[in-house]
Amino acid sequence: MNDNVNVVHPFVVALDGPAGSGKSSVSKQVARELGWGFLDTGAAYRALAWHAEASGVDLDDAASVVSCLDSFDYRIGTDPSGYRVHVGDVDVTEAIREPGISAVVSRVARVPEVRTHLIELFRAIVAAETRAGIVVEGRDITTVVAPDAPVRILLTATEEVRMSRRAAELTGQDAAATGAQLRERDRADSKVVEFMTAADGVTTVDSTELDFDATVAAVIAVIADSQPVTD
Ligand code: C5P
Repeated sequence: MNDNVNVVHPFVVALDGPAGSGKSSVSKQVARELGWGFLDTGAAYRALAWHAEASGVDLDDAASVVSCLDSFDYRIGTDPSGYRVHVGDVDVTEAIREPGISAVVSRVARVPEVRTHLIELFRAIVAAETRAGIVVEGRDITTVVAPDAPVRILLTATEEVRMSRRAAELTGQDAAATGAQLRERDRADSKVVEFMTAADGVTTVDSTELDFDATVAAVIAVIADSQPVTD
């Protein structure tokens, strides 16, 4: 790299949104198309909830949840075409998607010490990215984790559309139960971080009327407008 050129590496795209907005699948596809990395930050909160439960911790006891951080040996890949999530030697990639984890994850995410710890972890993963860029998705990426990112996007959709998309993704749960769980999770999460309205300088992409490909194209258009420096 030429030291005389002020290139920030990797190029960071911060993308936030509520549950069911499509942020994870859209972010992955954007990263694939650009040949960049992808970081799913929600996986860390889910994996910590899994770890705390596996350790027999009461998730309503914040001090006990915090004490779990010492033994939380967390690893996640950034390949958008296939990344695994590990806690110690255990591959928890599928386990953390279970509805039982979705139902309790907000309880660990609301603990300030947990957030501080995981935010540091996310910044370290981003700094270690070897591809030219990385798409980082979550709830507080545009505001807290990477507020200086050159591209910051809030991906939204109406609650009705988000609920029906999520119901279509899951099996074994009816749409009403899925909707109720999603609403409850957004309600709990939004007490801790603001992700329903865009902060200053954050571009809103509303996917309500867009299909998947059009949403991906809209996000790529926002990135292209920012004229990223690519290797
Ligand atoms: O994105 P996902 O649905 O996997 O996130 C799971 C949970 O992790 C959220 O409901 C929220 O409680 C927490 N989370 C968070 N901040 C982030 C990402 C996720 O609090 N940046």
